[in-house]
Amino acid sequence: VTSLLTFTRTKKGRYEWIQLVGHPGTFKEGFHDGYILKDLCEYERYCCEALQNDRLKHFVPKYNGTVKDEEGKSYIEIEDLLAPFNDPCIMDCKIGVRTYLEEDLEKSERDPVPRADLYEKMIAIDSSAPTEQEHDEKKILKPRYMIWRETLSSSQELGFRIEAIKKSRGLMSKEFQRIKDREDIRKQLMEFLANSIPRATRYLNRLLELRSTCLRSKFFETHELIGSSLLFVHDANRASLWMIDFGKTRKLSSDIHITHSQAWRRGTHEDGYLIGIDNLILLFQDIIDELTSG
Ligand code: ATP
Ligand code: MG
Ligand code: MG
Repeated sequence: VTSLLTFTRTKKGRYEWIQLVGHPGTFKEGFHDGYILKDLCEYERYCCEALQNDRLKHFVPKYNGTVKDEEGKSYIEIEDLLAPFNDPCIMDCKIGVRTYLEEDLEKSERDPVPRADLYEKMIAIDSSAPTEQEHDEKKILKPRYMIWRETLSSSQELGFRIEAIKKSRGLMSKEFQRIKDREDIRKQLMEFLANSIPRATRYLNRLLELRSTCLRSKFFETHELIGSSLLFVHDANRASLWMIDFGKTRKLSSDIHITHSQAWRRGTHEDGYLIGIDNLILLFQDIIDELTSG
């Protein structure tokens, strides 16, 4: 269990803002009410801007341009999705069958030096994961480590993984990232929903709308979405979800077309985004069926 990264908003409607994952210090209070600042990443800035003029507009935080603080550091100013909620429960699900870019894999292959630190990290999680040769050398190559790490979670198989959950007033755990089996995920989702049928139904409807909007979106058609999340937020009265985190979303070169719903093979750039959405839809439908049949 890790402590939450928070800051207290001082503007109208004082409340504690909560960040589930990512590095501490990436976010701070926005210049405008109802907005937050996130450290500027040029790729993400471009996506936020492009998405404001796309069909997916209502599924992403509103974007208010870039700003600089007193020290000259740059940020994007984006809608604070937590603002309308009262003591919200929050879940971050990373969508897609892989969470690294093909270019990251290529970069790691240019560095052919096996690393002892990666071997240590691997055996700390699973001492049977290294091959005999890797055990002998006590070192692991970076690309091998990157591909292995993806098999720890449900990403490869279900096209999404739970990154973190924060229940109202509760602590949060990051161990979610190692949950792999559909049944275990279903249990976590049930608990997050606190067995509420109306809440599950609202999320399901929003997922269905998101899916059909993706299929009609120019942005979705022309981009590879890697490491992007869906942020689920609810309180006693409402429940909704949004797409966030576009730091590793890239425009596809014009000769590459992806389906978003096929398994990834090297060079295809497939991200498996719709595999994740479809599995979430199936899980929410299962949960609603189970709750209604009592
Ligand atoms: P990483 O790449 O490691 O996932 P990051 O620094 O890119 O992290 P995000 O993933 O964008 O950061 O966000 C981290 C967390 O901050 C989210 O899980 C969520 O809890 C919170 N967060 C991000 N954007 C918003 C938003 N617009 N409104 C409310 N909360 C947000
Ligand atoms: Mg993220
Ligand atoms: Mg990110």
